[in-house]
Amino acid sequence: MATTTQAIPVDENVSKYVAKARPMLINGKWVNAASGKTFPTYNPATGEILAHVVEGDREDIDRAVAAARTAFDKGPWRKLSPSERARLVWKLADLLEKHAEEFAQLECLNQGKPLTLARVADIPVSIDQLRYYAGWATKIEGNTIPLSMQGGGKFLAYTLREPIGVVGQIIPWNFPLIMATLKLGPALAVGCTVVLKPAEQTPLTALRLGELIQEAGFPEGVVNIVPGYGETAGAALAAHPHVDKIAFTGSTEVGKLIVHAAAGNLKKVSLELGGKSPNIVFQDAEIDSAIPGAANAIFFNQGQVCCAGSRLYVEDKQFDKVVDGVSQIASKLRIGPGMESTTQIGPLVSEEQLNRVCGYLESGYSEGARAAVGGKRHGAKGYFVEPTILVNTNEKMKVVREEIFGPVVTVMPFQDLDDLVGKANDTPYGLAAAVWTRDIKKAHHIAAELRAGTVWINCYGVLDSAMPFGGYKQSGWGREMGHQMLELYTEVKSVCTPIS
Ligand code: ADP
Repeated sequence: MATTTQAIPVDENVSKYVAKARPMLINGKWVNAASGKTFPTYNPATGEILAHVVEGDREDIDRAVAAARTAFDKGPWRKLSPSERARLVWKLADLLEKHAEEFAQLECLNQGKPLTLARVADIPVSIDQLRYYAGWATKIEGNTIPLSMQGGGKFLAYTLREPIGVVGQIIPWNFPLIMATLKLGPALAVGCTVVLKPAEQTPLTALRLGELIQEAGFPEGVVNIVPGYGETAGAALAAHPHVDKIAFTGSTEVGKLIVHAAAGNLKKVSLELGGKSPNIVFQDAEIDSAIPGAANAIFFNQGQVCCAGSRLYVEDKQFDKVVDGVSQIASKLRIGPGMESTTQIGPLVSEEQLNRVCGYLESGYSEGARAAVGGKRHGAKGYFVEPTILVNTNEKMKVVREEIFGPVVTVMPFQDLDDLVGKANDTPYGLAAAVWTRDIKKAHHIAAELRAGTVWINCYGVLDSAMPFGGYKQSGWGREMGHQMLELYTEVKSVCTPIS
C-alpha cells in the first residue's frame, strides 16, 4: 500500500486556534472550567497533542444548564419571531461557509479524516443541515381538530407545537461538526436552548462553531458548549434535573446509560446508536457498481460510521468476484495523514479506537476468520489500520455480531432469499441496510423485510438533511433529519374552548 508525502500547508488561522488553550462557552462568554482543569486533544495521524481544551465537569454543566434555562424561560429567544430565528441559523450557515477551509482543516487535524473528505462532505453537509432547518423555523404548525363531544357541545380545539425547552446534546467523534450542526439546527429553529457536549476526542470544531454562533448574534445562553469527558460532563448533563430533553448520538452501551440517567426527571430522550448493517449483493446485481459501493460502504471515514456496511452478504455464485473486487480496491487505497493531498484512508480517531479495532481483528482470527486483504495496524506512528476484508466468517463470530467501528468488513455467502433475510435481520441493531440487484420486485420485497431505519437500493450511505435517519431495535429511539426531527424538539399542546 502506497503512502503519500505531499503535505498540505496548515491554514494560519488553524495554527493560531490550536496554539491557545480553548475555553468553553457559557452564557455568551468564553470561560475556564470551575476546576481550572484542561485536557489535551490529539492529532491521530501522529499521536501528538494538537491543543489543550478546558475540562468541563458537573459544576460547569450546572452553570451551562442554568444559563440555558434562563435564556429559555426569561430571555429574548422565545420572543423572537420564527423568521428571526431562521435568519440567525441561516447566518450561522453563511459564516461556516465563509470559514469552510479552516473548519475542514481543524476537523482533519483533530479527527484524522482526509482533508479532501472533510472539504467535500463534512463541511458542506454541516452548512446544508443548518440551512435546511433554518427553513423549517417558519413552518412549524399545529392543527385544528373537530371534536365529537357527547351532548353536542361545540368546541374549538387546536394544537400548538412548542419548543421542548432546555436540550442537552451529547455527540460523538466520527463526524464532529456534522453532529453538532445536525443537533443544533432543529433545536434552534424551533426555539429551544442548548447545552452541547462534544466528544472528548474531537472538541475543536464545535468550540470554533461557538465563536461563529457569537458572531451571528444569538442571544446569550441560547447555545452553551461544554467540552469534557463522558463519564463526568456527559453523565451530569444526562442526569440534570433542569434539562428537558437529551439528544444523544454514540454507542448503544452509552445510550443505555443515558436512558437510566434521564429517568430522574423523565426528560425526553432521543438516541442515534450503533449498527451492524447488512449490505446484500445478489447475483443479478450490476457488479461494477456493487463492488465499489461495498468498498465505500465500509471504508468511508475509516469505517467509523454508525451505518457502515460492515456485514457484506454476497450470493454465492458472485462471492469470489466480489471479494476479489473489493480486495483490489482496498489494497490500492492510499493510507496516510489526512493533511496529505492524496490520502484516502486516514488514521482512526484515537489509540483506544486503534486497540479496539485490532482487538476485534485478533478475535476474528482466533475464531477462524482470515484477512483476504489488510488485517493489521499500518505503521508504528499514528492510529492507522489497513482496510480489511475478513472471509471464512459466520454469524456466530464476534466480528460479525458486534460493531467494530473501523475499516473492517466481514463477507459471507448466501444461497436463497429466505435464508438471507433471516441472517440479515439476526442482529440487535437495525440502523441501515442495502441491497444490490437489477430485479426491482426483489429489491422492494427485501426493503420491506429488513428491520432497519434506512434501506438503500443499488447505492449505499446516501444521506440527506431531508431524509429521516434512525434506528430500529437497539440502534436508537426517534428519527433525525427530515421534518421528523422537529418532533424530537417540540411538545404538542392541545387547546380547547367551547364556542356555543
Ligand atoms: P465511543 O464509544 O465511540 O467513544 P461513546 O458512546 O462512548 O462513543 O461516546 C459518545 C459521546 O457520549 C461522547 O460525547 C462521550 O463523551 C459521551 N459519553 C460517554 N459516556 C457517557 C456517559 N456515561 N454519560 C453521558 N455521556 C457519555
